[in-house]
Amino acid sequence: MMKKLLLHACCGPCATYSHRVFEEAGWNVTVYFFNPNIYPEYEFVKRYVELKRYCGKSGLPLVFDFENVELTPGQCSACYGSRLKKTAAFAKENGFEAFSTTLLISPYQDHELIKKTGENVSDEMSVDFVYDDLRTGYRESRIISREHGLYMQKYCGCENSFRQMNERSKKNERLATTA
Ligand code: SF4
Repeated sequence: MMKKLLLHACCGPCATYSHRVFEEAGWNVTVYFFNPNIYPEYEFVKRYVELKRYCGKSGLPLVFDFENVELTPGQCSACYGSRLKKTAAFAKENGFEAFSTTLLISPYQDHELIKKTGENVSDEMSVDFVYDDLRTGYRESRIISREHGLYMQKYCGCENSFRQMNERSKKNERLATTA
């Protein structure tokens, strides 16, 4: 019987390529959405709805989870820790042999910190963490996402990253008008 992997997913686009890698490695994958600090609320809903649409089309089981977690916007280590701890806890309680995360696909995240956090959470909670450097598939994930017409956000998720994106676009607008 295939072993069960709980794959934490931050959004649809990052899940596209990632679940295939783990399936090809022999895992029976269930996708797990737990990203309570995505800001604003409409963005949280949009990311979940798009992931749900993709999972529905791909025949992937999807679990939605939510809990009000107090996190300081922009504190990435606490953010990774909270999401991976919750994933590991759900995996343990529900008979999964291991967990992983689609955060490992992003070239914009602190990859080494995600890996270390996953390993620490694994030790702490006695559930295996499956690591793969998914970044090699980042471009392919965007191609698959375009094929499926998935919404692709331009910021990580929390309020801090949302503000930074807005500041970047204002700066770009100013540069365009002064050019
Ligand atoms: S930038 Fe991303 S990883 Fe860092 S705290 Fe915000 S949502 Fe979490």
